[in-house]
Amino acid sequence: MAQDVDPVKTARMFEFFVQKVWPMQRRFVGSRLKRRCTQCGASEKMLTLDAQGVCSECVRQNAQGLPPKRAHDQALEAELAQIIASAQGAGGGHYDALIMFSGGKDSTYLVQRLKNDHPRLRILACTVDNGFMSPVAKSNLDEVLPRLNIDHVFIRPRREFYVKLFRYTLMHLNAEGSYGTVDFSDGEFMLDSARNLAAEKQIPLIICGYSRYQVENGLGFRHFESPRERERQPRTETAGLKLADMFDEDERKLWWQGQTNPEVDVPRLLFPLYAWDLEEEEIKRKVVEWGLIKDRNQSPIVTNHRLIPLLGVVDVHKFGYSSFENEFCRMIREGKADRIQWQHTFEFLEYTSRTGLFVKPLVLDLLKELDLTTEDVGVRFD
Ligand SMILES: [Zn+2]
Repeated sequence: MAQDVDPVKTARMFEFFVQKVWPMQRRFVGSRLKRRCTQCGASEKMLTLDAQGVCSECVRQNAQGLPPKRAHDQALEAELAQIIASAQGAGGGHYDALIMFSGGKDSTYLVQRLKNDHPRLRILACTVDNGFMSPVAKSNLDEVLPRLNIDHVFIRPRREFYVKLFRYTLMHLNAEGSYGTVDFSDGEFMLDSARNLAAEKQIPLIICGYSRYQVENGLGFRHFESPRERERQPRTETAGLKLADMFDEDERKLWWQGQTNPEVDVPRLLFPLYAWDLEEEEIKRKVVEWGLIKDRNQSPIVTNHRLIPLLGVVDVHKFGYSSFENEFCRMIREGKADRIQWQHTFEFLEYTSRTGLFVKPLVLDLLKELDLTTEDVGVRFD
């Protein structure tokens, strides 16, 4: 397991450079960069820019305005509260709800709010460690779990399994890039691990902290609960790729097998943030107020998946921009993220994907861990 380069140090150097040096340097390398929307920072490779340098999404939004802010849907919230309330004490074993827990602010908020609203709910928190967790994410877990005072388990599938998953998905990117292929499959497997654990421990509810946007755009349905029919089905593919092409029979059993016992219905999968639909700021304020997470800004570049730099570089070579940019550009358009900061980050990623500045040793290390070469994933540093 080669890990010669410290990923956190690299991430911090990357951030420092983006903030302090890049604002100057970008003026000298500008001709090497793609044009970007003057309103949301979207690359011309992502969306068409007009003569004024405004992308098609911003043009549309300028004409129509932002969609009106939804009022809190109280009926939906009540429906959710009813389902959770009736699960209290209903588990066949020691627990009533299995909560997907990353140690980040969304899942921390979720656990504390469920504890407040449903004090008799017997909670088991669970973290799926894909072998590429950032050390910062791990230390966040160690810090916040004692404060939440809940039972917690790690699910750690064998390393070879994850190496296969990441290796194969990275070499077979769909139109949504590494975000919609590698990261998406990782998320699907995380949910499948929870489905298996909950079924085995007779836990009736699985609770996950995805936002309304993630549910609608990632999972593709419009409710706080995953459709029952979908939950009863065994999984045969992920991100459009057949599991049979990726894994042997034994490995496929780590994925969700669907309803195997006709007598016992499968666990229900709930996404409470879909119904609560809170602002980022409110979640942040609450977890600080509850004394669970310190009020500091942790950049996603430091806390995320260790593979993120590699995924970004592969995307830039294949598509001209990173597939993770879509979501940030959307947040910028909605006034939820700062354009200059993120545009500089994207631009520098674009630049360093060719030059290798800071990221090359890390990217080479990650490729080595996945038993891949730069040629395998179409990356060529200058
Ligand atoms: Zn735009």
